[in-house]
Amino acid sequence: MSYRTRFAPSPTGFLHLGHAFSARTAFEAAKANGGSFILRIEDIDHTRCRPEFEAAIYEDLSWLGIEWPQPVLRQSDHLADYQTALEQLKTSGLVYADYRTRKQQAEAALSAPQAGDTAFTPSDSAEPAWRLSLEAAREFLGAAYDALSFTDLHKGPQKADPAVNGDVVLGRKDVGVAYHLAVVVDDARQNITHIHRGLDLYDATHTQVLLQALLGFTTPTYAHHALLLDDQGRRLAKRKGSKSLRDYRHEGLSVTDIKALIARTPAE
Ligand code: GLU
Repeated sequence: MSYRTRFAPSPTGFLHLGHAFSARTAFEAAKANGGSFILRIEDIDHTRCRPEFEAAIYEDLSWLGIEWPQPVLRQSDHLADYQTALEQLKTSGLVYADYRTRKQQAEAALSAPQAGDTAFTPSDSAEPAWRLSLEAAREFLGAAYDALSFTDLHKGPQKADPAVNGDVVLGRKDVGVAYHLAVVVDDARQNITHIHRGLDLYDATHTQVLLQALLGFTTPTYAHHALLLDDQGRRLAKRKGSKSLRDYRHEGLSVTDIKALIARTPAE
């Protein structure tokens, strides 16, 4: 199978050095393996995504010398497909309705992080959140549930343990379908063979490997890389106001300077 990677940013802020590292790592891995690299815009959360951030993603990546084929898949153009996947899970009895408000759900998660409480009764939230039932998934997959695994190029063979994330929300009224489901549907339909992304998404992989098994998709190979830290040793994050690539560009840094900065990141 050919080597196919992707960079899948969410346009919720300007890209920072960590994104530059992820994007270039995936792009260069594809090139080194005679494969292909694609860009996907993960903009299902319309409450946080903004067109100016999407435009900036194209501009920043081009500036970094990254090339990708057109058309770019924008998740907001494919919401019906994610709903279809959610319906499939509902039909198989793999999700259940959680009628608590977001606030109630957050409070319950704090007091019982492992979730598992399925006795939800309708409250002031008319539309439920749809949660993946690990119990139902275990029943559905049988022995295969305990054999769930994936390969991480840096860490080697890994056991997938979806309990790390509990019964995650896969759909809710305000944003339709959640990240985990959309990303799994798109990685499969775009035939992604290798996922290079930061260790901040390592735990997400446990849930995504389970979803791949439930939906009959192949699990790609993963390569979770270490995260770039700022001068104070903190993780870079859009929400923490980390310096963006365009801030560096406006300060006069060249692409070569950026490459030197991201070269400090260890492989793992
Ligand atoms: N859209 C996700 C983000 O920007 C990344 C998804 C992924 O690489 O799997 O955090």
